[in-house]
Amino acid sequence: MAVSRFAYVRNFELPDPLLPGTFIVVRLDGQSFHRFSEVHAFAKPNDERALRLLDHAATDLMDQFSDIVLAFGESDEYSFLLRKSASLFNRREAKILSTLTSHFTASVVFRWSTYFGNTPLQYPPTFDGRIILYPSIREVRDYFSWRQADTHVNNLYNTVFWALVQQGGQSTSEAHATLKGTQSKDKHELLFSRFNINYNSIDARFRKGSVLVRDSQPASTTDASDAAPSVPTDAAISKKSKAKIKPAVVVLHCDIIKDEFWDGRPDILA
Ligand code: ATP
Ligand code: ATP
Ligand code: MG
Ligand code: MG
Ligand code: MG
Ligand code: MG
Repeated sequence: MAVSRFAYVRNFELPDPLLPGTFIVVRLDGQSFHRFSEVHAFAKPNDERALRLLDHAATDLMDQFSDIVLAFGESDEYSFLLRKSASLFNRREAKILSTLTSHFTASVVFRWSTYFGNTPLQYPPTFDGRIILYPSIREVRDYFSWRQADTHVNNLYNTVFWALVQQGGQSTSEAHATLKGTQSKDKHELLFSRFNINYNSIDARFRKGSVLVRDSQPASTTDASDAAPSVPTDAAISKKSKAKIKPAVVVLHCDIIKDEFWDGRPDILA
């Protein structure tokens, strides 16, 4: 069979390179996770198992793709920042987006039981994905500030909403009505006066979301103190040098709106 006779169809596949020298942001978001969270009986307002599961899937991505220098997760979404010099898949848009989306989705399914134990997965979760290019540091900083501000606004609302429902005995529509037109200050006040909850004492994971970076610390001191023999074994040496070459991804729940986070990690925006 003459393959060449048919091969011209390949020419219909158009190149889709992403503009060079720009920051690449990939945002993934769970498809209909409002329903997914109900079907799988997520704790409200925040199911920690689900958040940790997504953190793990995002860590898998950072372990796999060294061009990802930062990730931020909240609710059913994760954003990934690729350095502006990233050469992953020759910057082919469809290849990057489809591979990251399916890798993340597959990790969520693969690791489900680690976080949900015997709770069965009722149907395959899916994620949509998009790529946004940013020309300068300013937009990248503002992008991540936007997502963390969103985390805060949603979490404050959801925390009061579910307190009204779970502890205040309101129906969901009553709780929405109670919160209609309230400012942030009113929500803090309501939480404290009616439910004795100080919003700022709520787990930072819920208030700040998850921030994934590569740990820039050299081989940890725990490793050294654990190594009882004074002459390290080959295995220990190779473990250590590997740890230096490939720093571990760490999950933080810190502020990324102010300068401090970025000033301490100049490599992220290099
Ligand atoms: P779409 O397909 O348009 O994204 P969606 O139902 O996924 O629709 P989102 O705006 O993405 O809507 O919101 C995700 C919803 O999933 C939240 O509003 C919340 O109800 C639920 N959810 C996601 N993660 C958690 C979690 N860790 N704990 C509790 N609920 C969660
Ligand atoms: P890429 O990531 O570039 O697609 P690849 O390794 O997936 O790399 P493909 O050109 O897609 O390369 O080829 C898929 C390969 O997977 C085949 O060459 C074959 O070795 C293997 N493979 C896939 N499906 C089967 C199958 N059903 N039985 C045996 N081997 C298979
Ligand atoms: Mg959406
Ligand atoms: Mg969603
Ligand atoms: Mg969402
Ligand atoms: Mg293949």
